[in-house]
Amino acid sequence: MGGYDALDRARDRALAFLATLPARPVGPRTTPASLRDALGGSLPEEGMPPEQVIDDLATAAEPGLVASAGPRYFGFVIGGSLPVAVAADWLTSAWDQNAVLYVTSPTAAVVEEVAASWLLDLLGLPAGASVGFVTGAMMANFTGLAAARHEVLRRAGWDVEEDGLDSSPPVNVVVSEETHVTAIIALGMLGLGRRRAKPVVTDNEGRMRPDEIRRVLATCRGPTIICAQAGNVNTGAFDPLEEIAGLARQHGAWLHVDGAFGLWAAASPSLRHLVAGAALADSWALDAHKWLNVPYDSGIAIVAHPDAHRAAMTAAASYLVPSTNAARDPWDWTPEASRRARGFAIYAALRALGRRGLRETIERGCHLARHMAGILARTARVEILNQVALNQVLVRFHPPGGGDPDALTRAVIARVQRDGTCWLGGTTWHGMAAMRISVSNWSTTEQDIEDSAGAIIGAFRAESNG
Ligand SMILES: *Cc1c(COP(=O)(O)O)cnc(C)c1O
Repeated sequence: MGGYDALDRARDRALAFLATLPARPVGPRTTPASLRDALGGSLPEEGMPPEQVIDDLATAAEPGLVASAGPRYFGFVIGGSLPVAVAADWLTSAWDQNAVLYVTSPTAAVVEEVAASWLLDLLGLPAGASVGFVTGAMMANFTGLAAARHEVLRRAGWDVEEDGLDSSPPVNVVVSEETHVTAIIALGMLGLGRRRAKPVVTDNEGRMRPDEIRRVLATCRGPTIICAQAGNVNTGAFDPLEEIAGLARQHGAWLHVDGAFGLWAAASPSLRHLVAGAALADSWALDAHKWLNVPYDSGIAIVAHPDAHRAAMTAAASYLVPSTNAARDPWDWTPEASRRARGFAIYAALRALGRRGLRETIERGCHLARHMAGILARTARVEILNQVALNQVLVRFHPPGGGDPDALTRAVIARVQRDGTCWLGGTTWHGMAAMRISVSNWSTTEQDIEDSAGAIIGAFRAESNG
């Protein structure tokens, strides 16, 4: 059978690319037009040999690839991929299992079940919680909030899956003014409304203020969902989850926690205090493709009430006979039916790391973020805007003689991006332009941090004098 040489070729090209990661410029070096030139044109009538397709693709792709899998990419909150997770992901593609039902892939179903129980244990979440393996934290937020919508309306005597929202009792949604945009999008997709959500004012670090939550909750009658956060995308800060969980209980509200990257802190005894109270929530969103360092797409939706989770996600169909042999059907817990068996990469990453390896990965990210903040803070006119409790650092640059720090900060970010030693992005924090550094790659070393800090300080000096 022809075509399998392409797999060898892909392996060679993949390893060659990975070998460039420590040294290549981190940001992209191309334009949309030159990529279109290299990759576009009309599709020819005749095909071409698979190995040549792979070679040509790898060559044309090269200038537009970002070294986000590498050790000095600090943009957004990205994370790389552990080699073992890439390897398991290759097998996942070769096996081409459909992780919809137990019967379509018994192994995929059981691997997800095992990975789910490991995750609940590692994160200190209720052992009876249900877990769905979704594409990312946005869909994990969607899934958790769908379960929430089901349950708060069920308690009000309404079946939202069958009867919709047109005549349902109104659902109050309490969010933070710092709620991640993907949770807000999920509220829109669920018909709960983006603008209808009631925002709670936050403190300096972006944490919901308990007095403000009380005030907003006092305006809520009937079904209520609270959406809190473990790990603010700018500061890394955590909402006061223990207090919020108590308030949720008093008001009979469902508490959803977006913990895309921050929830991983629960895997470390020295960081666990940050997520105190998280286990008291009703649902959680988590990413595996960020801090666990598995390939995209990999998010995890966890719900403390399996009945609500299942009711929101699944339905019976005549040709689908539910598994009767006590097996778990993956699609009961996700918005998708047919999908990639993404549990294999998660399983492989956890198995390779072990408890200690996961703990050390998370702790190392935090240590390296503090190291970066420490070096930058020792430089005159460089200000760290957040308490670096997790893996996020917000930096602001002040010109000599009191010029405009916003303009200088943006110029420093642009220069660092052009320089290519590392890559990071900008944000606006409480009205101030800031550089945003996220440390979430398994392979980042102290030397990477020092080299990157050197590049940042060099860019700052060049822009201050220029
Ligand atoms: C990244 C992130 C999301 C969105 O996750 P995706 O995996 O991109 O869908 C949601 N919430 C928080 C806090 C995040 O950091």
